Amino acid sequence: MSGHPLYCKSRFVSKRNKTRIVNIGSLGVGGNNPLRIQSMTNTPTQDVDATVKQSIALAEAGCEIVRVTAQNVDAAKALKDIRKKFSAAGFIDIPLVADIHFLPKAAMEAVEHVEKVRINPGNYADKKKFAILEYTDSQYQEELERLHEAFSPLVLRAKELGRSLRIGTNHGSLSDRIMNRFGDTPLGMVEAALEFVRIAQSHNFYDIILSLKASNPKVMIQAYRLCVQKMNEENMAYPLHLGVTEAGDGEDGRIKSSIGIGSLLADGLGDTIRVSLTEDPVYEIPVAKKLAQLAHELWETEYCENPLINKNTIIINDTINPYEYRKRESITLNFNDKVIASSSMHPAVFIKVHQSLDQYQAIAKEVIQLNNTYSDAKIEGLIFETNTVEDLHYLQLLQKIFISTSPVFILDLDPGLSLSILQNFVQFQFAHPARWILCKKCDEFSDGENVEGYLNFTKEHGLFLALDITPTELLEQRQILEKLNPSNLIITSTKPTATLSPIATYRAIAEIIKSFAIHPPSLWIRNTPFNTVDSKETFDSKILTASIFTGSLLCDGLGDIVSVENVSHLQRSTALAYGILQGARCRFSKTEFVACPSCGRTLFDLESTTAAIREKTGHLKGVTIAIMGCIVNGPGEMADADFGYVGGAPKKINLYVGKECVQYGIPQEEAVEKLIELIKKNNKWVEPKSVALFT
Ligand code: SF4
Repeated sequence: MSGHPLYCKSRFVSKRNKTRIVNIGSLGVGGNNPLRIQSMTNTPTQDVDATVKQSIALAEAGCEIVRVTAQNVDAAKALKDIRKKFSAAGFIDIPLVADIHFLPKAAMEAVEHVEKVRINPGNYADKKKFAILEYTDSQYQEELERLHEAFSPLVLRAKELGRSLRIGTNHGSLSDRIMNRFGDTPLGMVEAALEFVRIAQSHNFYDIILSLKASNPKVMIQAYRLCVQKMNEENMAYPLHLGVTEAGDGEDGRIKSSIGIGSLLADGLGDTIRVSLTEDPVYEIPVAKKLAQLAHELWETEYCENPLINKNTIIINDTINPYEYRKRESITLNFNDKVIASSSMHPAVFIKVHQSLDQYQAIAKEVIQLNNTYSDAKIEGLIFETNTVEDLHYLQLLQKIFISTSPVFILDLDPGLSLSILQNFVQFQFAHPARWILCKKCDEFSDGENVEGYLNFTKEHGLFLALDITPTELLEQRQILEKLNPSNLIITSTKPTATLSPIATYRAIAEIIKSFAIHPPSLWIRNTPFNTVDSKETFDSKILTASIFTGSLLCDGLGDIVSVENVSHLQRSTALAYGILQGARCRFSKTEFVACPSCGRTLFDLESTTAAIREKTGHLKGVTIAIMGCIVNGPGEMADADFGYVGGAPKKINLYVGKECVQYGIPQEEAVEKLIELIKKNNKWVEPKSVALFT
């Protein structure tokens, strides 16, 4: 049960949402068809041979739908030859899609040659002027009639030719009309798409696919969810094309895409995906394939059909509003007046130490070095497997090495380490008291010990208790937790259950806690092999699985602490945890780049330019820089960027501060330095004293 109308049957079950089947040529999308993988060429469209060559490379890598920009009527005409040559090369079954902005005439030409046409509702019949207008109801209605007139010819021709259409909204390019009535919001994005859907339906045309992309994963997650909920209200079930726009390149681009696309797939939404990376588009395909594989594994796992978590049929209420972000309330986790985590702070980062504790000196050296080098991405807690009395002894020695700035120690306790053993070590005080969190699996208490004993023990010694617990076990502990009302409790969960997926497990735990009459404990999202489908997975694949699991929970407002424990390398797991926090826009530790993937409209070499800008400005924590191949979607596309580096003409760059263009037509060779000057002039520059992890 939810206090908000839902977009799916239950947020505790990853079941695929049923959509109608839309055929793009001979390729079915939606219904029970596999999640389709797509990408987009970035060659100049009128260079037919280059575009065909890249389309072939994409198809051979596993791309099932290829999109090509048609930036004018001549480019749209070139699609005829591209289709012909692509088919002749043996790819007759791979549909081509024309990407249209602004020009209905180009769309009318393109629909003659390719299987699908994508239009952007924000600019198909609207010129964006950034005018602040007040629309009366009758003016609004007139605008809709104008839209009807402008869009209908394309719908009717697509219907005649058996083509499909994608109505592809972008967060950054909403029309003035939509901005005026709904603002720059997920609801505005949804309405922008549905206005066009209703026009198509008025002509009995239903071969429509929808997308609602944004560069901010939280915004796109909310927009897609809301779209499905609004479609349900209007008895629509159009397939969804999922994507995060301007995700950037490298690890950051993969993380951001996985958070946005993966969270929705885990919700059961999505019929085709495009991972937009500022790289050769061929590199998008393995990432998209892995996301699709994970989605199908999740959808096909037989988790509980109902939101019931045990045989007592206890129903978990789902009380969060899935269409807006709000961080969950929780207690403040505080050691000797140093706050480690609280609901008013960004989530803390704990890192698992995979070395054995007898190497405590090497561990200390590495942690101190990392924390000194990456001062904006420090390790705030160290997690240790603590199995023996010797381990406790080494922990004391390790603690001696660190000074007062030491990370918190989290002891994953072996069942053999009873409270009486721990007593001797906890009482042993150094120059500063132990900053330990004892982590106990709820089904591993020694004889005669229980939650109450551990809570009393940790409280008495100024420590915290992290209970590693399943939702069912948590319900069983209700009485004792309500009796003690602990203020030093952290909840985490690493044990798989047969009834709930890992994401659903944490969602359920958050809801169960909320229903108890206790101080809300901190929630620690532990990304352990429990969340990993394939134990032999590569690091590249771990980036994706960790981003989906941790990122989707963060975007739901859950998580006071995060740890990525399926990566054993200390620096890499730290970088990944901070990367996911930044990707989910929950904690910034380096510059945020919003970089478009490039396409046939791109006016400079995006890949190398992005790398050059990243190298020089990657340390500017809290600054957002947009790098866009052209300004087709309007400066709104760089919605929340502080600075923009945008192609204005071939090899000529325009620089922006916010949404305002402040320098035009700078030769590309000079533009990076000019950008830095601009950042300095606006007092956002700092000298690179600390290094950002994996920039
Ligand atoms: S912003 Fe980038 S991807 Fe978008 S149309 Fe322009 S060049 Fe192509």
